[in-house]
Amino acid sequence: MIQKPKGTRDILPDEVYKWQYIEGVVRDILENAGMGEIRVPVFEHTELFSRGVGETTDVVQKEMYTFEDKGGRSITLRPEGTAGVVRSYIENGMASQATPIKLWYEMPMYRYENVQKGRLREFRQIGTEVIGTESYLADVEVISLGAKIFEALNIPNIKLNINSIGCPVCRQKYQEALRDFIRPNLEKYCDTCKTRFEKNPMRILDCKEQKCKEMNQGAPIILDYLCEECREHFEKVKSLLMNLEIPFEIDSSIVRGLDYYTKTVFEFVSEDDGLTVLGGGRYDGLIKEIGGQDTPAVGFAMGVERLLEIFEKYNKDVIEDYNMDLYIATIGEEADLFATRLVMNLRDEGVFVEKDICSRSLKAQFKYADKKKARFVLTIGEDEVKKNYAKLKDMKTGEEVETKLKAEEIFSKLFE
Ligand code: ATP
Ligand code: MG
Repeated sequence: MIQKPKGTRDILPDEVYKWQYIEGVVRDILENAGMGEIRVPVFEHTELFSRGVGETTDVVQKEMYTFEDKGGRSITLRPEGTAGVVRSYIENGMASQATPIKLWYEMPMYRYENVQKGRLREFRQIGTEVIGTESYLADVEVISLGAKIFEALNIPNIKLNINSIGCPVCRQKYQEALRDFIRPNLEKYCDTCKTRFEKNPMRILDCKEQKCKEMNQGAPIILDYLCEECREHFEKVKSLLMNLEIPFEIDSSIVRGLDYYTKTVFEFVSEDDGLTVLGGGRYDGLIKEIGGQDTPAVGFAMGVERLLEIFEKYNKDVIEDYNMDLYIATIGEEADLFATRLVMNLRDEGVFVEKDICSRSLKAQFKYADKKKARFVLTIGEDEVKKNYAKLKDMKTGEEVETKLKAEEIFSKLFE
């Protein structure tokens, strides 16, 4: 038998309703904040990600699904959403619209990862991008929307960690200090870290290898190297968050896995399993990097699988499966035809109703209705068609009421 590729999952009908619930809650929150949904291609030119995400990142160096298409172009399945959204922003001239441009998306992402808990090769992200404002107010709006999502989904034990990773100006001094710190041990670092030492030493702080992590202990922190502007920006972010009573901690070790971040970076981490559910930050350099005007922006992305997992833990009985309102069982051909029309009329009224489409016996029809947890069953034979009356049975209580075989009357009996 052919099985699904490692690191992918099927979402079956009996669990998809949880996804839909979460997606509905998140969509309302983001759209009420003025975010418009955007959908961009699953694959892009590889260069978009190598330039946008950064040549020295794990994502680009190790995790991309890259292939040559039949026309000889190098194509990559998107590993993250921001680069594609920003490309679309530039390509569609969104800069000429009212600023800021506020976008959100829910899209599958592809990364060749070591598959483990909370780490898949195909996973979904819900993300936002606010483009065209350098104000700290935008950072706080985006962070507060993240906090709102966890609150609205009734997910406790989520910690917000923030940091500032400065701008290219303050980073230059910092990188020097970081190289000085790493240099004496450089030979002992992993090969990937070695390649990052000259080009992008901050990436070394994001290495997942145990020995590298250990040697990174005590490294200089960027907060001590921020320039005046970056420092002020960070202070304003912190004080507004405090004003809004959004609790947070400073975590000077957050550097984020993608190169495009500047200034504010943040993560919402589940204290239950230590996994980061939502990560984001400011990326003032990205839009220019991939060919647009110099434009500041800020955004976040959350892993929907990780979100769902903790959501389920705390909301066992909050949402119910979507079950059948009514099953119409039929005896004979005349009743069958009659019921087929009735089902169509009831569906027009918004009723979740089914009837037999397998030409099965009455007994088998009842069995199906029972298995599918139909709330009511209506049985129609020749007699019922003639009299235009039938019995509607409540499957929970066993109670029966008579009803005219008219969609409106059945509807009111079902929902009154
Ligand atoms: P990590 O350091 O855990 O690898 P990252 O920096 O690669 O995270 P981002 O690229 O910022 O993560 O992605 C944002 C969010 O998307 C993560 O916080 C997580 O919830 C989710 N995510 C990232 N990679 C995966 C994956 N392979 N499987 C499932 N969810 C993921
Ligand atoms: Mg990663």
